[in-house]
Amino acid sequence: MTTNIAPTPDILVAATANASSMTGVATVAYIIAAALFIMSLSGLGHPKTSRKGNAYGIAGMLIALIATALLLTITGFMIFLAAMIPAAVIGAVLASRVKMTDMPQLVAMLHSFVGAAAVLVGFATLRDHSPLTGSALVIHNIEIYIGVCIGSITFTGSIIAYAKLDGKIGGKPLILPARHLLNIIVLLLTVVLGYMFAQAVGGGDMTKSMWLLGIATAITGLFGIHMVMAIGGADMPVVVSMLNSYSGWAAAAAGFMLSNDLLIITGALVGSSGAILSYIMCKSMNRSFFSVIMGGFGAAEGTTVAIEGEHTEINVDGTVDLIRNAKSIVIVPGYGMAVAQAQHTLSEITKELEAAGTKIHFAIHPIAGRLPGHMNVLLAEANISYDIVLEMDEINDDFPETDLVLVIGANDIVNPSALDDPGSPIAGMPVLEVWKAKDVIVMKRSMASGYAGIGNPLFVKENTKMLFGDAKKNVDAILTAYRTS
Ligand code: NDP
Repeated sequence: MTTNIAPTPDILVAATANASSMTGVATVAYIIAAALFIMSLSGLGHPKTSRKGNAYGIAGMLIALIATALLLTITGFMIFLAAMIPAAVIGAVLASRVKMTDMPQLVAMLHSFVGAAAVLVGFATLRDHSPLTGSALVIHNIEIYIGVCIGSITFTGSIIAYAKLDGKIGGKPLILPARHLLNIIVLLLTVVLGYMFAQAVGGGDMTKSMWLLGIATAITGLFGIHMVMAIGGADMPVVVSMLNSYSGWAAAAAGFMLSNDLLIITGALVGSSGAILSYIMCKSMNRSFFSVIMGGFGAAEGTTVAIEGEHTEINVDGTVDLIRNAKSIVIVPGYGMAVAQAQHTLSEITKELEAAGTKIHFAIHPIAGRLPGHMNVLLAEANISYDIVLEMDEINDDFPETDLVLVIGANDIVNPSALDDPGSPIAGMPVLEVWKAKDVIVMKRSMASGYAGIGNPLFVKENTKMLFGDAKKNVDAILTAYRTS
């Protein structure tokens, strides 16, 4: 025999009051977290304030998590903990183990999680029959559909970006025949399926709507794979920030589905900052956003492309002589410097040279390395003063008055064919005009190409000398020779 005990009005009033006070606390917490996220973005805008920016972001996220937990039932809270604790442990271990050069892969992987989350939230929201009716219900269903589609593109596109950046699949663009037509067909199909989905949900046919949403997820997922597979070498920076933007919009869509204001705000912040970053990256590479999305640019890195002319080699002693005689030196770090982890020795060399009265600067190209801001972080990590680190636009006019440029593990960002050769795949991309200096020493292991997979005529210029070998070994040898000679 079962007994139903009806709650007394007093218990109901107390529970309702408790729930609404929790909602009030959560709302205030969400506002504080949103403000902290905005402060975080502003802090991350400059290397000097980036640590503070990071701290604001962490504080905002902690507040958001606690506030969300306050709104849960006991069962919900248990599920929350069961998901959160292992995820936090895995995240902490991954982040502490990742090498600076592998950060882009990690970021791409994290974007894929946001995409997957948006897809799952979409399906779960659809299953949870909405109490809404009329046009509010139609809008809600459109939110679900758009959120799931963006999430699916973000999920598969980010996994491909991860695999490309990690070298698991080649960087060469995959160009399918009639690929633009294929993309247009996918777009039209997605719109048609969206219409059918809205009709099916409106008519209360849950099975059909689930199927339609599933088909749309698969199609947009394939589109994500195709879109990133078609993008090659030198366009990868834009793809990373573009997927960053998509992951933000996917999160915002999930926020609409869950009626969670903080998720909407956070998603919009990530979405718009990723879009602005993509725009800045496109500008740095002199490429239109549309042509990046169309893909097909760049060849495989590490290939040796024939260039006319003979290169001149130099050894460590010869390099030290040139360094001693130079009154002004500019160091250009590239991806190879990051791989070799040469920044700490460079910091030592910088201190020695500054003490000897040499004018020394670092020149940073906006796409140097494999992630926006990559070089600034590496140099900051080695305690190289921000005051001597200059951006491309700040330093390009100074090269004619510079005695010596040390190009360390950089290639595409100092390629003169970007300016001289209208037929070059990177024609029009702004580069560091290092060849205008009196002498240039390029430190790399061979004559192989960089990320864009194209030849570099800088290596055979009259004032350029090649110091072959691992960047770290070479700068270590330079420091020792400088101190002892
Ligand atoms: P590049 O990839 O053009 O060149 C790096 C060079 O470093 C290579 O040619 C390689 O030559 C050399 N190198 C590699 N390892 C070592 C080592 N251990 N010691 C010495 N040299 C080494 O890099 P850049 O920084 O010039 O240009 C960045 C490129 O990366 C651009 O094409 C950009 O589009 C792309 N990219 C940028 C992203 C960003 O957001 N910044 C993201 C994704 C891609 P060798 O093999 O002969 O040693």
